Amino acid sequence: MADRLSCCVPFCRRTVDRQKLDAGHNEWLCHIHWKLVPARLKRRRAKLRRLAKRTGDPARLARIHRADDAAWAACRAKAIEGAAGL
Ligand SMILES: [Zn+2]
Repeated sequence: MADRLSCCVPFCRRTVDRQKLDAGHNEWLCHIHWKLVPARLKRRRAKLRRLAKRTGDPARLARIHRADDAAWAACRAKAIEGAAGL
């Protein structure tokens, strides 16, 4: 039985195989709902990921990870709002 994770949007029935996600990922948005996330937020997460790759400072890395968690929460909120038609 494959371990599957469902989309963060309530009532969305799409799921993904956990093995396709990076380790430590416990939340996921399906492609339909990911499209509702503004490009601004996606760019922010891409930028944070680039910064995280480059930095060698653990304190800075921890700050980047916290910022990325907040950015992800904003992406999820936008997708849920979009799905609800707000
Ligand atoms: Zn979905």
